[in-house]
Amino acid sequence: MPKMTNNTLAEDKTINSFHDFGFDPQIIDGLDSIGFETPTPIQQQIIPHILQGKEVIGCAQTGTGKTAAYLLPVLHRILQNPVAGVNTIIICPTRELAIQIEQQLVGFSYFMSISSMAVYGGTDGIEWEQQKRALGKGVDVVVATPGKLISFLNMDLIPVHNLQHLILDEADRMLDMGFVDDIMKIISYLPESKLSFLFSATMPPRIRELSRKILKNPVEVNISVSKPAAGILQVAYLTYDNQKQAVLSQLIKGRDLPSILIFASTKSKVKSIARELQTAGFQVSDIHSDLEQSEREKVLLRFRNRTLQILVATDVLSRGIDIENISLVVNYDVPHDAEDYVHRVGRTARAEQTGIAITFINEADQIKFSRIEKLIESNLLKLSPPAEFGPGPEYNPKPLRRNNFHKRKKKN
Ligand code: AMP
Repeated sequence: MPKMTNNTLAEDKTINSFHDFGFDPQIIDGLDSIGFETPTPIQQQIIPHILQGKEVIGCAQTGTGKTAAYLLPVLHRILQNPVAGVNTIIICPTRELAIQIEQQLVGFSYFMSISSMAVYGGTDGIEWEQQKRALGKGVDVVVATPGKLISFLNMDLIPVHNLQHLILDEADRMLDMGFVDDIMKIISYLPESKLSFLFSATMPPRIRELSRKILKNPVEVNISVSKPAAGILQVAYLTYDNQKQAVLSQLIKGRDLPSILIFASTKSKVKSIARELQTAGFQVSDIHSDLEQSEREKVLLRFRNRTLQILVATDVLSRGIDIENISLVVNYDVPHDAEDYVHRVGRTARAEQTGIAITFINEADQIKFSRIEKLIESNLLKLSPPAEFGPGPEYNPKPLRRNNFHKRKKKN
């Protein structure tokens, strides 16, 4: 049986930063230039296991950061233990995903002499020759769709005798697409000694069966996030930071909203939002790490029994606030983790009730918001601020990258 982990890290150590994993400095440099600052929950949970050489079965959807959760520790392991021939094979269902994974890998490995290649179907004769030549020269990581990978393995074009890692990404989709025999065939070509990791958005019995066949005593990490219930009205406002407070006050003024929970990214913002709302005549309290535990509990109790209408909290405390049936949740800033968005929004509508979730998106947070939309698989309504507050920013999410990455050649 797989071992289960929950929201805490393997070995009970709290990981708040990528520096806490003990990564090779070249990986930290890659993360810095891409702009990743804090590991997502799945990264916090999975990375230590892979670094320790354990096999993993991860239940996680796209949008949770699952790709980096396996790429980063695998890159670290490749740096620690380089081998001749292909080190790692990643199998995924589609050409688009193969390209995406390989692009992330190129970004992370920008400061390393690690080479990678995406191999997928639908290529013409010229591309086939190019891929063949590149494989012949040797690559560390191959990202491939199953059919194409089998063709190359059949022709003995991929030196897999030293393979260290095999990753199956979006395994449920691969099974849906009928790739199960191809996967088993691929595995028959690979050495026993490798470590295998399987990721899937869902865990139906046939995925369990596949994992029993290919994984050895895996650690199971479950980060499946249910989508917000249908009764929740989710809306976003495209606002500059200096418009948020006025828009917030106008949105809640005179409405029948018995309990409102507002999340903001910093302590100072929490305090100033609460102060402004108080001045505007609302019954409001704030909660952040400056308060003693007993004071926090008192505030929460008042909010829970509805003697306090509005509670403003920091992102850091958001997970600890266990109150449901809230009429309105406001994300004053876009939450860092896409899963946090789902958890917060899920505090509004329960059963047959309806709730409202409003998120303010400034220019810098647009990319984070697009990640949330990817996770919940829907595009949310994005409104401009009411006319009297002037126009907000355009919605145009751009990747966080600060550098242009180019594929680097392997140093031999
Ligand atoms: P994935 O679930 O792997 O498809 O990742 C979803 C998106 O989140 C991708 O665009 C990643 O670049 C981004 N991402 C993953 N991990 C982080 C992180 N720790 N910080 C910021 N963005 C991230």
